[in-house]
Amino acid sequence: MIYTSYEMVRDCRADKPEGWSYFISNYVPVIRKLLAHYAKPDRRLEDVLAALRKPDSSLFQSLEPAPERWFVAELRQTVLAEIEPPVPEVPIDLETVASALEPLTLVEKQVTWLETMRYNHGATGTMMRMAQPTVEKIRARASELIRGKSDAWRSTLLSDNGLALGREAVAAAGKECLPARSFLDVLDGRTTWPEREQMERHVNQCWHCIDHFCRMVEVVDLLRGLKPLTDEEALPYRSLLGVKTEKPSAWKRLFGS
Ligand SMILES: [Zn+2]
Repeated sequence: MIYTSYEMVRDCRADKPEGWSYFISNYVPVIRKLLAHYAKPDRRLEDVLAALRKPDSSLFQSLEPAPERWFVAELRQTVLAEIEPPVPEVPIDLETVASALEPLTLVEKQVTWLETMRYNHGATGTMMRMAQPTVEKIRARASELIRGKSDAWRSTLLSDNGLALGREAVAAAGKECLPARSFLDVLDGRTTWPEREQMERHVNQCWHCIDHFCRMVEVVDLLRGLKPLTDEEALPYRSLLGVKTEKPSAWKRLFGS
């Protein structure tokens, strides 16, 4: 039997050690990557894990059993909620960004939004399957457009404001906004051209959906080549979270094959 994220969510909700062991082995590496990317070095992995383990943590209580990428998307939001956004030297709000970037195509908006998510030209090129010079060109144009609307300017304007802009975008959800599945269908190549055109008509005008789309691109990227912790590496986290380890049946399932 294969133990999946469905079982994990169910078992963590029920506070079973199988669920938490699986969570630690498979998703501590994701949390580590997210913190390294988004947080200051003093935001400790151990503290974030302890917050997720608290009974009032929303991660497992609000989440239905879900496929892995859905779960990681939720995990990403929960981990980022644990990070204090920096105070930007030059603040900018979503409305200003949205009006500045209005002339861009959807792909250009995504490339620009990934800058708020702190992905450099190279990483963005990989995520968007695009040559790095193309990314640079799009971002240069986006910078110019934003400079035209903003009183002050810094080259790090978008990344400095990224966490705050992301939270604004999440809060801006509307009735027509698309579910995660729609974005994953596009990324997996399951969307037909007419479907895609229809979808883009909404997404191109909606920063909630552009952000959501970019977050799903990020999730796919986060999971690429990710290695679970070894038994030995997982041990300190299991003891930190008070997860019992003497469960041979779970071990067999997790590490048996
Ligand atoms: Zn939308």
